[in-house]
Amino acid sequence: MSAKAEIISIGDELLYGQTLDTNAHWMSIKLDEYNIKVFQRTTIGDDEDQILNALKLAEERVDIVLITGGLGPTKDDLTKPVLAKYFGVNMVHHEKVLRDITLLFAKASREVTALNAQQANLPENCEIITNPVGTAPGMWFYEKNTVFVAMPGVPYEMKSIMTQGILPKLDKMFTKGVLHHHIIKTIGITESSLSDLIEDWELNLPQHIKLAYLPTKGQVKLRLTGSGDELNTVKQEIEELQKEIMPKIDKYVYGFGADQLEEVIGQLLNKKNLTLATAESCTGGYLAHMITSVPGSSRYFKGSVIAYSNEVKTGQLGVSTETIKQQGAVSEKVVKGMAKGVSRELNTDIGIAITGIAGPDGGTIEKPVGTVWIAYSDKNKTFAKKFNFSRDRTFIIHWSALAALNMIRLNVGVK
Ligand code: AMP
Ligand code: MG
Repeated sequence: MSAKAEIISIGDELLYGQTLDTNAHWMSIKLDEYNIKVFQRTTIGDDEDQILNALKLAEERVDIVLITGGLGPTKDDLTKPVLAKYFGVNMVHHEKVLRDITLLFAKASREVTALNAQQANLPENCEIITNPVGTAPGMWFYEKNTVFVAMPGVPYEMKSIMTQGILPKLDKMFTKGVLHHHIIKTIGITESSLSDLIEDWELNLPQHIKLAYLPTKGQVKLRLTGSGDELNTVKQEIEELQKEIMPKIDKYVYGFGADQLEEVIGQLLNKKNLTLATAESCTGGYLAHMITSVPGSSRYFKGSVIAYSNEVKTGQLGVSTETIKQQGAVSEKVVKGMAKGVSRELNTDIGIAITGIAGPDGGTIEKPVGTVWIAYSDKNKTFAKKFNFSRDRTFIIHWSALAALNMIRLNVGVK
């Protein structure tokens, strides 16, 4: 059974209707996300008897009591001394809290007043939960089998304390069972084709393992989320399920979890001791940028020729002027010439080249915007593939670079 919680909102302004109790609403949503049942919400004024009474009633019926409001330095805010009275403890000075307040004020070039300093006086039995955005810290008490949490009323301070300090602690203490996410990263296949490939497998997934398709720019991620009592068991189940589909999809799978395509390429080239150079027309160096964003890429990447103009394609890469004239700069023959030329000029094992129409202008009926030729060349073979990417310039450039990386992956060795 999930844990039960009560939210106590304290403040005369809430009862007068001057302030809407948005804190309780927000906390309800968050607690629900953490599978903690909000059993009751209580709103009371800044009044000692009311607070003491509310605490007593809440303690009897729930596991977690979340209090918001009444933590300010002014006399109308009573929550702290009333909590000390409720637990029968003294108020003590917490040096760390004063240091936090002093630091926060220094950032705003403000002096700490006596009233502010007083905010470092807290009930002695509390565990302090840092307030990163204000002076009143959160307080955590564990008494008589019940968790009590007191937070300021200022909504963004309460949210910050809840998110960073309280919810992770409650999660650890009350959330039973585990949830495990596993990501399989694919490239070169659309979401719907992927779904067709693995349909039978998907239909037979056990109830406690869910599959999600997450398409992002040019790639599709498969997320398997499993729940259960024990992390290793869930992980193992997911691993077994993955083994079942891998033979069907491994051509498209370039990695798992946090793997990045450009890193995977680097590992492959390193492993095989191969060097690479790029010749880029429409991507203007974007592919080289992706490759060199990986630390250690100097071991396998020699350089790039940004052959944006025809003069560079002919002058630097040795593509014949005649071929460009006859076939156009965006053509199979030219892109192959570029790939061969760059690996020859830069003396690498592999040359990869891209030429295409990124738009928005320059398209024709035969070669519309998004037409991109990519060539791969090594000592055994040189070949090219034509792609038709749609959408805008940025997208076409990005897709072209990804497709080129994928071509390297498929030819150097699938992981
Ligand atoms: P306090 O922590 O009582 O000094 O509250 C500071 C300010 O936060 C109040 O003046 C209200 O504007 C706001 N506030 C307090 N409680 C709530 C609440 N439950 N929901 C939304 N705002 C609140
Ligand atoms: Mg108040």
